[in-house]
Amino acid sequence: MCLPKAYGGFGLINLKLQNISLLIRWIWWLYKQPASLWTCIAKQLYAKRDHNIPPLAWNAQGSFFWNDIFNLRLYFQLSTKSVVTSGSNTLLWYDNWGGNIFAFYGFENSMLPCKNITLKRARSRLYSLFASPLTAVQAEKLALVSLLPNSSTPDTLFWRWRTDATYSASSLYKCLVSAGKISFHFLMLWKVKVPPSIRHFLVFLAHGRIMTQDQLQKRHINFAPRCHMCREQILETQFHLFCDCTFAKAIWCMLNVDRTVYSSILSALSALCSHQQSLHGIYIAVTLWGLWIERNNRVFRNQRRNIQGVHNWIVHEATLFLKYC
Ligand SMILES: [Zn+2]
Repeated sequence: MCLPKAYGGFGLINLKLQNISLLIRWIWWLYKQPASLWTCIAKQLYAKRDHNIPPLAWNAQGSFFWNDIFNLRLYFQLSTKSVVTSGSNTLLWYDNWGGNIFAFYGFENSMLPCKNITLKRARSRLYSLFASPLTAVQAEKLALVSLLPNSSTPDTLFWRWRTDATYSASSLYKCLVSAGKISFHFLMLWKVKVPPSIRHFLVFLAHGRIMTQDQLQKRHINFAPRCHMCREQILETQFHLFCDCTFAKAIWCMLNVDRTVYSSILSALSALCSHQQSLHGIYIAVTLWGLWIERNNRVFRNQRRNIQGVHNWIVHEATLFLKYC
């Protein structure tokens, strides 16, 4: 439900993730606004030992607010990338400077408790940082440090989720809320010229959440498999109801829709998104909706129309939607 509409969700705000996205701003300012009042106060309170070390190496224990922010530092580390020119303001262990996340991730067991060390300092005493012998892979990674540039220009921190490399809460929020989800051009479904109730139905259909018999069985509601449209003793699935059923196929044929369109639910929705502003796209949307309405009328109200009746209803509704939606 909280996924963005572009990812097939309803765009509701996930307040927890939104809060994280907004709080990360305070860490970003520590790096990007060194003269601001916030940075000066934080530095006085939490960087007493060394004002030149990067903020992520400052004292992690402080006020409730500081603790809350500091506990989110992993989100910051994952969202930023440091381009090293001198190594003076990039941390060896905690900053993302190696191209991928944390070049030295997995070294924790062998390193001495000298965690808050910058790349510049580490360069001169690299091998003394480790208590136990390094593996070949670790040694190879460590050799990277001596190959880094060594100029006097400060390192640059980039935001990874925007092309202009600057922080934005919305970019992090989108990244957090849609992580790992497959993007299908669902945004188009929200622009189809049909009433909102049908658009919501289409999004549910895209997610496979329409309560056909197979979905009900997953929820332990069992009854004899039967398609109420073609009356075959077959388990009703989304694919059968909207694509494979003889009733549905007859409707698609009468509407002169290409066979590839109803070869699968995804094909139908893709065709719908490609023609969402035209009568063809509206026909596809209304046909899917009309088949579902007809099915429900048969199951719950004991009302039924024949193929011609459903076809006439679809044509009538689609024409109205094109004109008024
Ligand atoms: Zn059927």
